[in-house]
Amino acid sequence: MPTKAEKQHYAKVASIGCSLCRYLGYGESPPELHHIRRAGKRSNAPVIPLCPEHHRGNTGIHGMGRKRFESEYKITEEELLEQTESLINASA
Ligand SMILES: [Zn+2]
Ligand SMILES: [Zn+2]
Repeated sequence: MPTKAEKQHYAKVASIGCSLCRYLGYGESPPELHHIRRAGKRSNAPVIPLCPEHHRGNTGIHGMGRKRFESEYKITEEELLEQTESLINASA
């Protein structure tokens, strides 16, 4: 169960739109939240916003797999996370 602070964070993440669409210059698309899996704790997995296509679609991170996704778009999940966090911090 997400805590109240996590819910607020998720709402902020969602409010900035798909991070890949933004990176590619497509503008803001309403996103879903993608959890970044790291070794260890699952509960505090960081999230990035991805639109349904870039999340679960054929050109998305789950559809292509993370490695292909990262080489296709020349950006890593971690870089999308950094971009997301700096946008959130800038708007706070
Ligand atoms: Zn997108
Ligand atoms: Zn996901």
